[in-house]
Amino acid sequence: MFNRRSIFFYMRQVTGLIFLTVLLTNISLSSPTDYSVFEPGIRNGRGRAQLNATQKNAVAKALLSKTGFSSIHFDETGWLRFAPNLGSGSETAQQLVFDAFRGQQVIELYSRERSSEVAFARMITSQIFESGRTGAQITIYHLEIDFSDFGYLNGDREARAAFDLGFILLHELTHIIRQIYDNNGSQTSPGDCADYINRIRQDLGLPLRNHYFPETRKLARDVGTVYIARLSFSYSSKKRYSVFWDALKVGNIK
Ligand SMILES: [Zn+2]
Repeated sequence: MFNRRSIFFYMRQVTGLIFLTVLLTNISLSSPTDYSVFEPGIRNGRGRAQLNATQKNAVAKALLSKTGFSSIHFDETGWLRFAPNLGSGSETAQQLVFDAFRGQQVIELYSRERSSEVAFARMITSQIFESGRTGAQITIYHLEIDFSDFGYLNGDREARAAFDLGFILLHELTHIIRQIYDNNGSQTSPGDCADYINRIRQDLGLPLRNHYFPETRKLARDVGTVYIARLSFSYSSKKRYSVFWDALKVGNIK
């Protein structure tokens, strides 16, 4: 595939958050104008796994509830658009979404409904495009969301409010936009990224996540063995609020 009339790019295939170069090749885009490759931001993915209308609405609503923007929607070309003139949300969340539209990255959203590999959401692959002509570079990340996992969440109202689609999306965005990872995350510590997301929880008057990895309990049930994963959240007092889910149905947290 080599179209001489197109701009040529160098593409590196990247896996996960570790920039592991597994492929270095020249490619061409058949029609660069249908998708401005060097425009940063958040957009719907392409192909069969792209978000449907209900999923796009869920993402827009989830981000709206954290940022307090006056509106968020996906335009007809798939880009997330927002009107940022309200101040009722978390400033940290607002700045994070703002910054996703600057710099040198595109975050494409994909649905991984009922996937055992994706627990709530993950960033799995990305590509770095570099214009051979101008040297401009942009990294394309894939944010995969398993919307069905959110249906398995149970627990205290406060904890569920502190661990929903919006927080999961912001967690993944933080990895990319702030380059903050789950370092130091354990069963007793939230780790760097969850600490950052805790600022947003604090802004919104929600309890803070106490640890990164969920506690898992094995329970014998009529249907067989069930593994329940649980995360706890708290305000400054000792009282803990829990959210829990069926670990086998949702998949492993990584
Ligand atoms: Zn993470």
